[in-house]
Amino acid sequence: MFNSLTILRKILGIWGLLGIFSAHATVQVSYLPPESTNEKQAKQAIVESGVNSVIVDLAKEHFPFKQALTIQYGGNEGPLYDPSNHTVYMPYTFYTQTIEYFKSNHYQEKFDRSADLGTIDTIMHTLLHEVGHAYIEDQAIPILGKEEDAVDNFAALIMIEYVENGDDASISAADMFAFESQDRPDYYQADEYIDEHSFDLQRYFSTLCWFTEAIPRSTPTYSMKLNKIY
Ligand SMILES: [Zn+2]
Repeated sequence: MFNSLTILRKILGIWGLLGIFSAHATVQVSYLPPESTNEKQAKQAIVESGVNSVIVDLAKEHFPFKQALTIQYGGNEGPLYDPSNHTVYMPYTFYTQTIEYFKSNHYQEKFDRSADLGTIDTIMHTLLHEVGHAYIEDQAIPILGKEEDAVDNFAALIMIEYVENGDDASISAADMFAFESQDRPDYYQADEYIDEHSFDLQRYFSTLCWFTEAIPRSTPTYSMKLNKIY
């Protein structure tokens, strides 16, 4: 991971020089009607968090789309990006399931960050991950390795570099990978080796790598923030 942050910054700069960032199209957010009380609460929490305006503003500023992108909340599909209609799908149930992980792991008590905040942090990372897929498609960017890793890195980098307190938020998103990993058996199953994503624990550690590379080690909270779960 040595110097990879610098390399990514340079790549973003080169894209800018080539005019890849010159086109502008909006990112629109739409909500399907919630179908339960839980979904209603999830929608309210998402709207009130302001996470969507963060994504919209980041796209405008740092990765403008040629084609208008839609982020649609609700339904049963996702989180995923569908290239056929250039839409990111985010079900309300993702919020509900995520907040349960943070609550049952006593996030507030152990890590001094509320379960609600941890959940919104995870939604931000997940939206950026899916928006990363959308951006690769929109700009026809060639990806030579695993695209899933590329968009995980994109999400972490954008959060750490351009979102206020995004370093804390990226750690919550990493912790969510650790929670999911703890839920699994000790050994990975054969079908997980076929999965296009890296293993949850790999995603946890690689997100932390961006944090350790971006944040000066002299920061007083540096070591406190690390070693939280593993
Ligand atoms: Zn993906």
